[in-house]
Amino acid sequence: MVPLAEQFDLVIIGGGPGGYAAALYGASAGLRIAMVEKDKVGGTCLHRGCIPAKEFLETAAVHRHVSGAKEFGINVDQPTIDFGVSQARKQKIVDGLWKGLTGLVKSRKITTYEGTGSLGPDHVVTVRGSDGSTQQLQGTHVILAAGSVPRSIPGFDVDGRYVLTSDEVLMLDTLPRSVAVIGGGAIGCEFASMMADLGVQVTVLEALSKILPGCDGDVANVVVRSFQKRGMTIKTGVQVQGHQPGPDGTTVQLGDGSTVKVDQVIVSIGRRPYADLLDLHGTGVKVTDRGFVEVDEWCRTGEPGVYAIGDLIATPQLAHVGFAEAIMVVKDLLGEQPVPVDYGAVPWAIYCHPEVAFAGHSEESAKEAGYEVVVSKHQFRGNSRAQIIGETEGLVKIIAERRPDGTGGRILGVHMVGPWATEQLGQGYLAVNWEATAEEVAHFIQPHPTLSELFGESVLALTGRSLHA
Ligand code: FAD
Repeated sequence: MVPLAEQFDLVIIGGGPGGYAAALYGASAGLRIAMVEKDKVGGTCLHRGCIPAKEFLETAAVHRHVSGAKEFGINVDQPTIDFGVSQARKQKIVDGLWKGLTGLVKSRKITTYEGTGSLGPDHVVTVRGSDGSTQQLQGTHVILAAGSVPRSIPGFDVDGRYVLTSDEVLMLDTLPRSVAVIGGGAIGCEFASMMADLGVQVTVLEALSKILPGCDGDVANVVVRSFQKRGMTIKTGVQVQGHQPGPDGTTVQLGDGSTVKVDQVIVSIGRRPYADLLDLHGTGVKVTDRGFVEVDEWCRTGEPGVYAIGDLIATPQLAHVGFAEAIMVVKDLLGEQPVPVDYGAVPWAIYCHPEVAFAGHSEESAKEAGYEVVVSKHQFRGNSRAQIIGETEGLVKIIAERRPDGTGGRILGVHMVGPWATEQLGQGYLAVNWEATAEEVAHFIQPHPTLSELFGESVLALTGRSLHA
């Protein structure tokens, strides 16, 4: 006999940023919540994504700073790397955050079920434990938040030895001497930058005509120049065909007949939604040809009362987008009529060196959308704080709607590349999302000397007058 399903206000499948944010936010609104997780609460972001990747990038930054200390009159020997220690430090941070998160989930009285969740008719979620046991839960509402896994590419079977994805790179104890990174998107560029700063010989192989395809052209060019200056090889417009392992590494074959010999290959061509284990038979939930769960603008699936959020749906695959969708969905199921997430104004942050951050239209996309624009561009090399910290590469670029007098009106997009760009974007993000004009934002005072003065200068210039620039 099938045991009676335990009843909840909300059952969530997946405990990544989307799932756990929905659980925490829902619990704070007084809902009785079950969260089903087959691996570890925290998901890709905490265990195999954002956090460990940024920790390694910080390790790379420390190496870069120590290597360049002589410029400041600090004489140190050329640093050496014990990547086992770096790996242990990363894991300590991940484990500490995981402990904190599981404690928080418990303290909010969220019931966590360890096992694989699948959805059948009538909002019934079956949980299969690794010991073969099954349990049934029923939610007045259900959220699918099963996330994503790395995409693979024919000819490159992931073996953990010659061919790695982000999952394997983040578990390395020793660094290769050379790598080919297949894919010049955000994650590929982060790994390329990190490896190069740690002394690995890096080749980036990108099928499109430029790396960082979603970024403003001027911004991407700064990253390309920096990568090349640091000894990386960037090949764009190339198709990879396969690879041939040998006694000393592996040889990657390219479509133009050339080859690249490296110790290891990192496949970084994006992530695919992971609906594989959700079953969904007998429900109205639909999955697209590309594997994404179909939703409307409030993340409602075709089955009334069932939502899907995060990397499982075709919206930007970012942890903070998952958070925003989780909050919106909980408000929706509470009947609070939330405003849908504005995907055009999401903040983007790429933590390669130099860092990239942006929100809103690029110059190209604003023009394509039919705007007449004014563009203000200022380089970090003219900024006092950038010179003090010795990081002068990069720029701030602001795109505004053109007023009849030629000055800038509403701010449509803010793009940054350079020191601490990911931390600096806040003001730009607010300006875009508040639909502020250049005149309004120029009124605000920037502290001196700071990197953020460059944003202030760029906005001021849009008003038709300026100080230093
Ligand atoms: P996930 O985090 O993938 O979580 C889904 C969870 O569901 C997993 O724990 C999985 O075990 C579980 N699950 C799946 N199926 C089932 C099932 N049937 N039953 C039970 N449990 C199940 N984003 C950023 O915003 N900033 C960054 O800097 C950033 N850096 C990244 C770096 C790397 C290397 C990678 C790989 C990703 C990065 N991301 C970053 C993306 C970010 O990690 C994802 O967007 C985010 O984790 C998606 O959250 P999610 O909850 O939708 O899915």
